[in-house]
Amino acid sequence: MTTRTDQIAPGVHLVADGLVNFYLLEDGGEVALVDAGWPRSWPTIEAAVRELGRAPGDLKSVVLTHAHPDHLGAAAKVREETGATVFVAREEVARARGKAKGASPFALVPGLLPHLWRPSATGFVLHATAHGFMTPTWVDEVTPFDIGDELDVPGRPRVVATPGHTEGHVSLLLSGGVLIAGDALTNLDVLTRETGPRLMPDALNGDPERTRASLANLEGLDADTILPGHGGPILLSPSEAVARVRATSP
Ligand SMILES: [Zn+2]
Repeated sequence: MTTRTDQIAPGVHLVADGLVNFYLLEDGGEVALVDAGWPRSWPTIEAAVRELGRAPGDLKSVVLTHAHPDHLGAAAKVREETGATVFVAREEVARARGKAKGASPFALVPGLLPHLWRPSATGFVLHATAHGFMTPTWVDEVTPFDIGDELDVPGRPRVVATPGHTEGHVSLLLSGGVLIAGDALTNLDVLTRETGPRLMPDALNGDPERTRASLANLEGLDADTILPGHGGPILLSPSEAVARVRATSP
């Protein structure tokens, strides 16, 4: 078992399932899940909810930063088990349904091939495959949200546009000064295992230039903690983190 749950701020919990993070937001007995891990992460999600002293039925919503299979993950299973509503950006709906161009995980394979000489990259691919990455379960019944919306779920996340990694990728600014960045930036290069604030490898960014340009949308946001989809928390303001990312990933 590679699960680890940490409280990051009041009502904000990081759960690491292997190389992927997801987050539980808690307020007044209600729980929201931000990203849904791997396709096979339901047992980890259920255990993490119980660790908070809550029952799976308290999980009322799933909010996705994007619909890659290591973030869409077990959303369909969560919905089936708890009846939770799955929220996704309007521009990401087709991907969550498996209908977007390039939604298939096999679309990432050509870009990954040149990296596979690295044992760490091969290790990521094997790890991802073992967790169901290549056989995602799409979610048809989703509730779309728009940029700038404040979602009526625990943590009151405000939606910030960070397209590029996928066409409808968003980051979520929580009411308590925590920014969930998804894969707009990362604290762990999953292919090389290098740590520190950086961009995801270009092989995994659908549009690398747009991914870089979206960093500007994070600058100036009022937060002191950034929670990425991979790697540990980044204890910097978004402006400071973006400066580091630009220095590391020119
Ligand atoms: Zn991703």
